[in-house]
Amino acid sequence: MAYDFDLFVIGGGSGGVRCARIAAGHGARVGVAEERFWGGTCVNVGCVPKKLMVNAAEYAGWAEEAAGFGWDMEVRGFDLAKLAAARDAEVARLSGIYGRLLANAGVTSFDARASFIDAHTLDVGGRRVTAEKIVIAVGGRAVRPELPGAELGMLSDDVFTLKTLPKRLIVVGGGYIALEFACVFQALGSQVELVYRADMPLRGFDQDIRVALKAALDAQGIHQHVGHHPARLDRQGDHLRLSLLGGGAVEGDAVLFATGREPNTQGLHLDAAGVACTAGGAIEVDEDHRTTAPNIWAIGDVTDKLNLTPMATAVGHALADTLFGKTPRRASYLNVPTAVFTSPPIGTVGLTEADAAACGPVDIYLASFTPMRHTLSQRQGRKTLMKLIVCQETRKVLGAHMLGEDAAEIMQGIGIAVAAGLTKEDFDRTIGIHPTAAEEFVTMR
Ligand code: FAD
Ligand code: NDP
Repeated sequence: MAYDFDLFVIGGGSGGVRCARIAAGHGARVGVAEERFWGGTCVNVGCVPKKLMVNAAEYAGWAEEAAGFGWDMEVRGFDLAKLAAARDAEVARLSGIYGRLLANAGVTSFDARASFIDAHTLDVGGRRVTAEKIVIAVGGRAVRPELPGAELGMLSDDVFTLKTLPKRLIVVGGGYIALEFACVFQALGSQVELVYRADMPLRGFDQDIRVALKAALDAQGIHQHVGHHPARLDRQGDHLRLSLLGGGAVEGDAVLFATGREPNTQGLHLDAAGVACTAGGAIEVDEDHRTTAPNIWAIGDVTDKLNLTPMATAVGHALADTLFGKTPRRASYLNVPTAVFTSPPIGTVGLTEADAAACGPVDIYLASFTPMRHTLSQRQGRKTLMKLIVCQETRKVLGAHMLGEDAAEIMQGIGIAVAAGLTKEDFDRTIGIHPTAAEEFVTMR
């Protein structure tokens, strides 16, 4: 049977665009449908606009520090509308580039929602389209916790349409999104009330990093309400009141629920194509990202693998090479470096101490110091923490973790060393770059 396309990709985000583009480059006839915005979450309501807000927030600290270096500076205020206009223009530029990348690669794009009719047939904005192979790359979406009044709170998408800075912002959650926005809004001038249910932020991260981050959040004036579950949200006059389970409440002008995301599978009619989901609602895939339907694959945030942009693009690229490039390969989920853009930021790669210790005896190398710039700036609560976890038997560096300025930039290089399986002695043999914080990674004894 002749299909309209060799490959049809549902979703024009990080994973979908890469997969479509590379497959077309291998000579496949490719179609892709995007219902909301080309470039997906990352470009439009994720990594990119978030990072620009992180950049904006950094100036508050730098302005404060400048006096220690002899500058006489007066900060007269922050204009959210001005930042928003510049940020949105950059997002629109990038989203346009994504659209053009597809056109230049010869991909047929549909500005439409797609859903399954059967395993080879899709409804694309009311049009019947057939494809031999289909890739589901529909991503995820933020969800509100189930509690009375939850609709009064914002989700992360809403941060990018805020017109004024809340005087007092309640952030619920202790994960990536909660912590990044808590730090951004505190620096821009809001008083942030951070409510999370664990005893430390960032469940799953190395314990020393979690402890250091908690102290850094305190030092910048974020009020942490630790070990609390939200119970209900009510409007009281001109403010909101978040009641906590077991008693107590936190008040603010706005609430941001950053309590996780769920796969975007609603309305796709997956059962019509024989595609099964896990108990958590993610699309079930094997190691090659094939779903329970033999001609359908799923990649990125719609699966329950690592929800990061570079992972979605790497998997989309590998899948296109495998299906159309005659070079079957898998993207590795091992030793994926990641950063949390808090203030200061966190960079991490490989195993935590707890995970590594469960595999066998390890040696721990820790460095904690005040970065040179803060000896003059006198800014408090800006200590850097660096940690290496080394297997006693093989001497391989199993994990590297850092909380401190430039951690995200530094960890990309350390990630190569850890992924390559280098030993502590390889690190020790490397000459440091002086004077930097990064050199501690090769001088820890
Ligand atoms: P997406 O990028 O979400 O793309 C899916 C696309 O499919 C969307 O455009 C959607 O509109 C479209 N779609 C959905 N259903 C349909 C349908 N039925 N028909 C047609 N189109 C459909 N990751 C990082 O690595 N670094 C970061 O700093 C970072 N920051 C983030 C900050 C925030 C606030 C958020 C929310 C996420 C962040 N992420 C970050 C995560 C990152 O954005 C995701 O992991 C990544 O975008 C996943 O790519 P994807 O292709 O799977 O999905
Ligand atoms: P996370 O899974 O990282 O964090 C969710 C947080 O919400 C956790 O602290 C969780 O608590 C809490 N939570 C969940 N349900 C409830 C509830 N009902 N009541 C109270 N608290 C609740 O999700 P995010 O939404 O922050 O981020 C989603 C993903 O996006 C990340 O995992 C990451 O992969 C990606 N991302 C990456 C970024 C980066 O690379 N810098 C930045 C932003 C997002 P508990 O820990 O107790 O379960």
